[in-house]
Amino acid sequence: MRTADIRTRWLDFFAERDHQVVPSASLVSPDPSILFTIAGMVPFIPYIVGTEKAPWPRAVSVQKCIRTNDIENVGKTTRHGTFFQMAGNFSFGDYFKDGAVEMAWDLLTTPQDRGGFGLDGDRLWVTIWDQDQVAAAALRRVGVDERHIVRLPREENFWDTGQPGPAGPCAEFHYDRGPEYGPDAEGGTVDPGGDRYLEIYNLVFDQFLRGEGTGKDYPLLGDLEQTAIDTGLGLERLAYVLQGRENMYEIDETYPVIATAEEMSGKRYALGRNSTAPDDVRLRVVADHVRSALMLVADGVRPANDGRGYVLRRLIRRAVRSMRLLGVDEPALPALLPVSRDAMKASYPELETDFDRISQVAYEEEEAFRRTLTSGTTILEGAVGRAKQASPSQPVLSGEDAFTLHDTYGFPIDLSLEMAAEHGVSVDEEGFRALMAEQRQRARADALAKKTGHVDTSLYTELQQRLDGPVQFLGYTDDTAQA
Ligand code: ATP
Ligand code: MG
Ligand code: MG
Ligand code: MG
Repeated sequence: MRTADIRTRWLDFFAERDHQVVPSASLVSPDPSILFTIAGMVPFIPYIVGTEKAPWPRAVSVQKCIRTNDIENVGKTTRHGTFFQMAGNFSFGDYFKDGAVEMAWDLLTTPQDRGGFGLDGDRLWVTIWDQDQVAAAALRRVGVDERHIVRLPREENFWDTGQPGPAGPCAEFHYDRGPEYGPDAEGGTVDPGGDRYLEIYNLVFDQFLRGEGTGKDYPLLGDLEQTAIDTGLGLERLAYVLQGRENMYEIDETYPVIATAEEMSGKRYALGRNSTAPDDVRLRVVADHVRSALMLVADGVRPANDGRGYVLRRLIRRAVRSMRLLGVDEPALPALLPVSRDAMKASYPELETDFDRISQVAYEEEEAFRRTLTSGTTILEGAVGRAKQASPSQPVLSGEDAFTLHDTYGFPIDLSLEMAAEHGVSVDEEGFRALMAEQRQRARADALAKKTGHVDTSLYTELQQRLDGPVQFLGYTDDTAQA
């Protein structure tokens, strides 16, 4: 099943069950307290926390999401993209646990020729909050094997906004990919970070009013007047299971970019093996980042030195840089972006109609980065010369030079390391990191100063920190970006 068909099937299934079909909101979060839309529920926050009355009792969507906090996982785990699509069904005071569990089970396990996804129910495992007898009963009733219901403490399986207000337990569906991916969970617990039990679908049961506290340590004060169901299923995760692929980068919406990058570089991608070889990770990073950049520019984000634009800039640069490390020196995006567009346009036709604008923004950014590389190279070579003069036998490029290259010329440290090494020069990385830490300290102080006097009324500050992370991009400290 193509990912676009999985998406349609999702929407149809819930539309047939009286859910209002709501189009995806922009990746630029409608909630001003977070940079990007990080989950399907973001556009529905006011209905879920009860500050606004929902226009419909039930809704369904497939929401475009960006999670920058997952960037270090891209290409390494099988399941984390910076861009992904979260399919969700929602109830605002309408059905609750029974309904949500029944529909989830039906959709996942009904055969494909009868409108479902046809997953083998024996391969599904569900983690619930250990106090949630109602969820356990609902799961047993639909036919989930009792041994596959895994009870976890509140720290593991409870949703809240980080502040006093609504909260509630989750039930997360995991798909068992089989013993070749790890040890059996029978009688034990599913390893949520492992490769074997893939988390695909999270049901959040919003039912309690919580009080003050830190982390998950807070009192439950009572029941909410109006419950809500908020769910999220990773479309790409389900797609790689249904398409019999090894990871989410090898599905129909992303693999064509890997294949093209493979051709351009002459490297052979280890398809179907989850290889951790640096070149294979790089190819997956390229496929992920090119798609994320495409979708971000489509939603109006432009490269910049801060905020959303900074995230976009770094995604493009990391994709370009990865291509160079794969041995491709010519411009990469003019070859890769149209491939990504074609793989995505079934679900997002605007990618085609708006492609002139989108590609112009992206190609210009790649050109700018290429110029950075050119100008930085001269500076780097000067620094290399000085290092050799200072110590011909053991030349070390100074931390100050590495910092200037990074800070003024946008030269990532691994690039300095690699290029210095080509000249037989090492880099004072410790000195560089000390200067970086100093700079971060200053930035933090600035940010704090800016914040004073600003009252943050958002319920979602903590959610943002947990999921979206600060706008600090670690891409270039990532060892896969190193030569
Ligand atoms: P994980 O534990 O695997 O990081 P999560 O618990 O952070 O996932 P949720 O916040 O529960 O994910 O989001 C709901 C669903 O969205 C997940 O069950 C998963 O299918 C999907 N999802 C979450 N993050 C990503 C991602 N970075 N890439 C692809 N799909 C994702
Ligand atoms: Mg996660
Ligand atoms: Mg999880
Ligand atoms: Mg989850």
